[in-house]
Amino acid sequence: METKTILIKNTTILAKGLRKGSVLIEDGKIIDINNKIRFWGIDEVIDAEGKILIPGLVNTHTHLSMNLMRGLADDLPLDVWMNDHIWPVEAHLEGEHCYAGALLAALEMIKSGTTTCDDMYFFMDDVARAIDESGIRGLLCHGMIDLFDEEKRKAECKETKRIIEKCHNTADGRIQVALGPHTPYTCSTELLNWVRKKADEKGLKIHIHVSETEKEVEDSLNDRKKRPFEYLDDIKFLGPDVIAAHAVWLSGAEIALIKENNVKISHNPLSNMKLASGISPVSDMLANGICVSLGTDGAASNNSLDLFQEMKIASLLQKVRTLDPTVLPAGAVLEMATMGGATALGMEKEIGTIEVGKKADLVLMDRRAPHLTPYRNPVSHLVYSAEGPDVSTVICNGEILMRENEVLVLDEMEVIEMAENASEDLLSRR
Ligand SMILES: [Zn+2]
Repeated sequence: METKTILIKNTTILAKGLRKGSVLIEDGKIIDINNKIRFWGIDEVIDAEGKILIPGLVNTHTHLSMNLMRGLADDLPLDVWMNDHIWPVEAHLEGEHCYAGALLAALEMIKSGTTTCDDMYFFMDDVARAIDESGIRGLLCHGMIDLFDEEKRKAECKETKRIIEKCHNTADGRIQVALGPHTPYTCSTELLNWVRKKADEKGLKIHIHVSETEKEVEDSLNDRKKRPFEYLDDIKFLGPDVIAAHAVWLSGAEIALIKENNVKISHNPLSNMKLASGISPVSDMLANGICVSLGTDGAASNNSLDLFQEMKIASLLQKVRTLDPTVLPAGAVLEMATMGGATALGMEKEIGTIEVGKKADLVLMDRRAPHLTPYRNPVSHLVYSAEGPDVSTVICNGEILMRENEVLVLDEMEVIEMAENASEDLLSRR
């Protein structure tokens, strides 16, 4: 990456409270936050008067390429949705579909202020290509499903190894690779053991869906006489490197296991609501000191990747669950979408806050809009009133991806047309 100096001046910075000031970026990092920053030798000056500067948002559970399946099968329970609609389409996926879907998703995320995502899907080298071109940050894993079949298991391990070798630590470090066993009910114990061993050996994260529906827990109790997190603890799979998506149906003992093993949670309220999966006990987990982050899940079960929607719903849903309006206040949910996400992905030293020495993953929000007026309580506005389209400028790793609502890294119309064609082609193969 070439040396580039960017100055964001006259802005309101969300960093340990709010303050007026300027932020200086050099070599992809924040090197100064001040009111009196030098103005010479700067490649690019962004006058951010009337804007609020926040850390880039972190989406800790998604399936980017499923953007091609947006609106394909709505209003169905998870098992019917997956078995009868999603899997039959996914059987025809090719790398170019995944590339087009991921590029569309990256565009959608840039336009709504997300600079980092944790993605599990297929043809991940094609997804990595899209992440590389779009300039965002991604922790990517091949979704492994062996359905208790040895041949399938071997093929899944081989594909995972291929993706690690090809993509881990690429694109100036913006792309990392994780291990992605799909769920405890689609993966054998042998596969989960292989994943644990590989994670320890290579220091990689593990991304898995756990306890999304009540049926999953009932089946686990029938088949294994244990609840999903109890089973995972039993086989010594759990650890601080595990990012567990959903975690909706939890017993008190399972919350204790999550805490004990320092497992990171990705809460996906909109997907859980749409598939009527249930409500995760997020405020209980937070009260126990568990790291809970936010994810959108794929666009086939959300149907948007806008983390502003996710933040608002996450907060409201906990209030409804507990009948207590004081739980999960705006500041706490904003933390989940920024530092919580960074911590879940093991990137807490690099991203998640606006601090000197951290990577410049930054988002400018327009605050001069009817729905954000009066400008009294910006943190409340960010969670309860703001929307993706309020994002005006996005910087990731010190590169300007969008400036004053103009995406600089991708041709928007070209990406949309490519995704339309890829989706049509994919669905015609059913
Ligand atoms: Zn998912």
